[in-house]
Amino acid sequence: MTATIIDGKAFAATLREQVAAHVARLKADHGITPGLAVVLVGEDPASQVYVRNKGRQTLEAGMQSFEHKLPAETSEADLLALVERLNADPAVHGILVQLPLPDHMNADAVINAISPEKDVDGFHISNVGLLGTGQKSMVPCTPLGCLMMLRDQLGSLSGLDAVVIGRSNIVGKPMAQLLLGESCTVTIAHSRTKNLAEVVRRADIVVAAVGRPQMVPGDWIKPGATVIDVGINRIDAPEKGEGKTRLVGDCDYDSCAEVAGAITPVPGGVGPMTIACLLANTVTACCRANGLAEPEGLTA
Ligand code: NAP
Repeated sequence: MTATIIDGKAFAATLREQVAAHVARLKADHGITPGLAVVLVGEDPASQVYVRNKGRQTLEAGMQSFEHKLPAETSEADLLALVERLNADPAVHGILVQLPLPDHMNADAVINAISPEKDVDGFHISNVGLLGTGQKSMVPCTPLGCLMMLRDQLGSLSGLDAVVIGRSNIVGKPMAQLLLGESCTVTIAHSRTKNLAEVVRRADIVVAAVGRPQMVPGDWIKPGATVIDVGINRIDAPEKGEGKTRLVGDCDYDSCAEVAGAITPVPGGVGPMTIACLLANTVTACCRANGLAEPEGLTA
């Protein structure tokens, strides 16, 4: 079998078009422009790239983008004061504090200071609890993107065996909650899981969110299974020249694609969906804040 390639780049482009269409309607019908505030503390190069991309895509979707760049030595109290101001600002419908924060800050305290209604990352303890109890919440962007691609690929997920490898708060756990919400039978695997290969072989859906390059080989995959590879790992690529690198996922793409029914590539799979879902969450938050019907297809 040769797997269908799930084209996350194209999927994300379509989602961004849907978001832009909703934004245009909100402006035309209600005079409202959704606004996303992104806060970056310090000068981590990867975070700077993420924040730049988020700002650019926010503007391209017709929304307002508010960027707050603070020096690494900013005190936690000053950051919390900024979050308070953004919570109170009616032009801001979504707030994202870029992680990781500098070591002198308590990331949980900062995330939990964001108004849950504006927590477009879905990391606030209230949103975690709402998702866990099957209530309306803000859903973390990366797992939301994975769910959208799975639904598009498979239709109903009800009754399918799903294995999520990784139990982080930002990917593994919310992914498992979303799959449970779709009536999958869910197993969460992690570094202490015994017989991981056997566990993964049972799965109709495999979501790998580990951070270990090409860890999942094709012979762990049940024939026809759908494989969602969240991992983003940079490895040496001497074939491209001295000192060159390339990105790979947590799955060994070539061998998995021979066995799976469908698979996301890295790059070009889950990655592009994350910012598209952030924009979608901002529109959802804006509609909820204004008592308007939520657009269909933008959340879980
Ligand atoms: P994380 O917080 O480091 O969590 C990794 C998880 O993998 C942990 O639960 C860990 O288990 C588990 N693990 C480690 N080694 C394992 C092994 N040998 N067998 C089974 N499980 C193992 O990572 P994360 O933040 O969830 O990110 C995971 C990957 O996704 C990374 O490559 C990251 O770059 C990528 N990512 C991509 C996006 C995107 O937009 N596409 C977004 C977020 C993250 P323990 O809990 O037992 O330690």
